[in-house]
Amino acid sequence: MTKIKHFVFNAFQVNAFVIYDDTKKAVIIDGAANSERELNELLGFIKNNELEPEYIISTHGHLDHICGNFDLKSEFNIPVLMNNCDDLWVERAMDQAALYSFDMKKPPMADKNIEDGEIIKFGNSELIALHIPGHSPGSIAFYDKEGGYIIAGDTLFQHSIGRTDFPMGNHEDLINSIKNKLFILPDDTLILPGHGPDTTIREEKKCNPFF
Ligand SMILES: [Zn+2]
Repeated sequence: MTKIKHFVFNAFQVNAFVIYDDTKKAVIIDGAANSERELNELLGFIKNNELEPEYIISTHGHLDHICGNFDLKSEFNIPVLMNNCDDLWVERAMDQAALYSFDMKKPPMADKNIEDGEIIKFGNSELIALHIPGHSPGSIAFYDKEGGYIIAGDTLFQHSIGRTDFPMGNHEDLINSIKNKLFILPDDTLILPGHGPDTTIREEKKCNPFF
């Protein structure tokens, strides 16, 4: 069974996660630390718990979610995983950062593409990757079937959904992704979104104004 450590990082208040199990193997998802203090907080947790990260994973390529990847890759020298439909976002990250006056280090490109349905294994655990385009073309959610939760990125929030007014965003794709990939999960599945509080599939089916 996995354990989840949750942080909130950078000016965009991104939910960052370290997922690990009893073997001490771990993955870092959206580890978007963007200051020395945030990076120390993340690295301190990993060191204090003697965890061994195996992958740096991004739910999508927007700058607020990938801004920690340079430091994480430098620290651990492990592969960066994301969906290659968001490569353009990673390539343009520094231009975007300038646009927002957001100071960040140039993020590395993905070392490996994550496909829909791919299973990411670490320790005794696995996460199922679900391609959920709409907020960005390469958005991916990570479902822990045994743990009953999903790391959803910027797709589905408590009583809201991700923005689709960025370049390459698509509202119809987003609605279809949520309906066909997320709302088919068990009702009590915990949703851990990219920003803001947790929710559940049941709650969003019942109360989300977009459905
Ligand atoms: Zn985003």
